[in-house]
Amino acid sequence: MENNRKLAEILSRIDGRGFKAYKDIKGRYGFKAFKLFIDHVQGDPYSNPSRIRVRVERGRTGFGPELTSNHSRTIAFCDFLTRTFYRNCRRFAKQERGIGKSGLVTMDRPQQEILERTAMVVTREYVEARFFMGLPAFGRKISARNAKAMFFEEVPKIVDHSLFLSRLDLKSILRHIEVSEDADALRGQLDSLGLVAFVADGSLLPRASGIDPRPLKRGNIVPFTSPESFRVKVSLPNRGEVEGLGIPKGVTLILGGGYHGKSTLLNALELGVYNHVPGDGRELAVSSAGAVKIRAADGRNIEKTDISPFINNLPFGKDTKAFSTANASGSTSQAAAISEAVEAGAATLLLDEDTCATNFMVRDVLMQQLVAKENEPITPFVDRVQQLHREQGISTVLVMGGSGDYFAVADQVIQMTNYEPSDVSEQARTIVETHDTGRRNEGRGELGGIRLRIPVKKSFSAFTREGRQRIKNQGDRAIVFGSTLIDLWDLEQIVHISQTRAMGRAILHAMQYMDGKRTLEQVMNLVERDLDEKGLDILMPFVVGDLARFRPLELAAAINRMRTLKVRQFA
Ligand code: ADP
Ligand code: MG
Repeated sequence: MENNRKLAEILSRIDGRGFKAYKDIKGRYGFKAFKLFIDHVQGDPYSNPSRIRVRVERGRTGFGPELTSNHSRTIAFCDFLTRTFYRNCRRFAKQERGIGKSGLVTMDRPQQEILERTAMVVTREYVEARFFMGLPAFGRKISARNAKAMFFEEVPKIVDHSLFLSRLDLKSILRHIEVSEDADALRGQLDSLGLVAFVADGSLLPRASGIDPRPLKRGNIVPFTSPESFRVKVSLPNRGEVEGLGIPKGVTLILGGGYHGKSTLLNALELGVYNHVPGDGRELAVSSAGAVKIRAADGRNIEKTDISPFINNLPFGKDTKAFSTANASGSTSQAAAISEAVEAGAATLLLDEDTCATNFMVRDVLMQQLVAKENEPITPFVDRVQQLHREQGISTVLVMGGSGDYFAVADQVIQMTNYEPSDVSEQARTIVETHDTGRRNEGRGELGGIRLRIPVKKSFSAFTREGRQRIKNQGDRAIVFGSTLIDLWDLEQIVHISQTRAMGRAILHAMQYMDGKRTLEQVMNLVERDLDEKGLDILMPFVVGDLARFRPLELAAAINRMRTLKVRQFA
C-alpha cells in the first residue's frame, strides 16, 4: 500500500505523455478516510473505463450491525449504498474532462429492483465500492491536472457523501432495508399460505410508460384493492399485518375488457419475483420465486425439447418428444417455453394473451368440427392447464379476455374493471353449467413427465474462431458467447443489463458441471449453490462492479436459446 502522495507524484511525472503511461498508476493507495485500489487501467480514452475500488473500514462508517443482520438486509443495504454512490458520482464529478470517456466517474446503476450486485460489498470489516473512472486525456495525452482533480477532490467527496452514516439519513436506509426484508418474508410465506402471489391493497401497479419502469405519476391512478373473497392477511416482520389479494395455487384466470388493467397486473406478478424499492408502488406485489413468464417467441432455436404434451403428430412424423428446430413457430416456441420452464423447476406459469400464440391457447367448438383432432397436432393449453396443476403441481395465472373456453378449467376468475379486481368465479361457473358449448376436451391421457435433457459440454465454446475468449452482453437482452449470439429478447423477467452480463459468465461457470450425466436443472442448481455460498465474484477472474444476480430459471432459458446447444435426453 502506497501513500496517496505517491499517486500524485506518478500523475505529475506522466503528465502530457501518451495515454498508455497511465498504466503506471495501477496499484493501491492509502487516503485519509479510505483505501483506493486502481485495479485496471483502460488502454485508451475511448475504451471501457478503468476499474477502481475504494474501501472504508466498517468501524469508521458508523453503519451498525442491524443493517446487515441477515442476507436479505445486507443485499438491500448494499443496494441503498449503490444508489447513493451512483447519485453522488453524478453530483460531484464534473464528468467531462477531455476526449472520449475522460472525466467519467460512475457505478452500476440500479433500477426499480433491489438485486444482489457486485458494485457494493459490505462485510464486518469494511465497505467496498467498485466503480468506474474514465481517465482524462486531451488528444490522447494524459492530463494530470484533471486526473488529480478526480482522484483527490471528486472521489473523496463522493466517498464521503456515500459511505458514512453521518452524511446519510438512517431513516431512509432502514426503510429501504425493511421494505425489502418484508418482500422476502412475504415471498417465503406464499407457499405455506397456498398462494402463488400476493398484491397488497394500496399497491400502485401502472408504470410511467412502456419503456420507463418507474411508477405512473400522472392522471387518475387507481390503487389496488382486493375483492373481499380473495383478501388475505399476512404478517410481515417490519410492516406487521398487511391485507391484499392472495392468488391461490391452481388455475387463475384474469379477464376483463381491453384497457382495464389486466396486463398491468400480470406484469407486476412477473416482476414480483424481485423486490422493489420504496416508492415503487409494487413493494408488496410479490410472486413465488419460481414464477416464469411464458410467451411465444417464433423464430427461436429449440434443441431436443419434449413438447409432446402439447404438440404431437407433426407433418412428416417429426418427433415431438425431442423436438428441434432452428426456426420455431409461435405455437412450438410457446410449447417449448413451458416444457423448458418445467424442466428447470418452474412452479408457476404466467401467460398473457397479448403475447401468446392463439392456436396454442384455444381451439373452439366450431374449429373442432371443421378440423378433425387427427389433423391438428396441437392439444390446446386450455385442455392441459388443469393437468399441469393436478399432475405436476404447477399453477398458472393467465390473462385471457378473448375466450370463455377457459371458464371451465379455471379454479378462480378475477375480472378487472376500471383497474379494480373483482371475483367472478361463481358467475363463470354458472355460465359453464348453463351453456354447454359442446366443446370436447382434447387433453386425453396423462400429461406424463417431460423428458429431461443433459447438456453436451462440447457444444459450448467461449472462444471465437480466432481462439480468443469472448463473453459479453449486448445490451440487456443478448449475450455474445464465443462466436454465438444468444438472443434473449423474449425473457421478460430479466430486469437489468448486469444480470445479462453475469449470465454470460455463468454459462462459462456452468460448463465445469457438464459431465454428460447431469441434467440441465442439476447443472443450474450447482451454479446457484456456488453463487449462494461464494457470491457473484466467482464468475470473474478479477474484481468487477457490474454483475447482478439472476435466477437459475433465466440462466437455463438463456442456454436453451443458444443456437449451438446440443443435448442428450435422459434415458
Ligand atoms: P389490458 O391488458 O386490460 O388491456 P393494460 O394493463 O395494458 O390493460 O392497461 C391499460 C392502460 O391502463 C395502461 O396504459 C396502464 O398503464 C393503465 N393502467 C393500468 N392500471 C392502472 C391503474 N391502476 N390506474 C391507472 N392506470 C392504470
Ligand atoms: Mg393486455
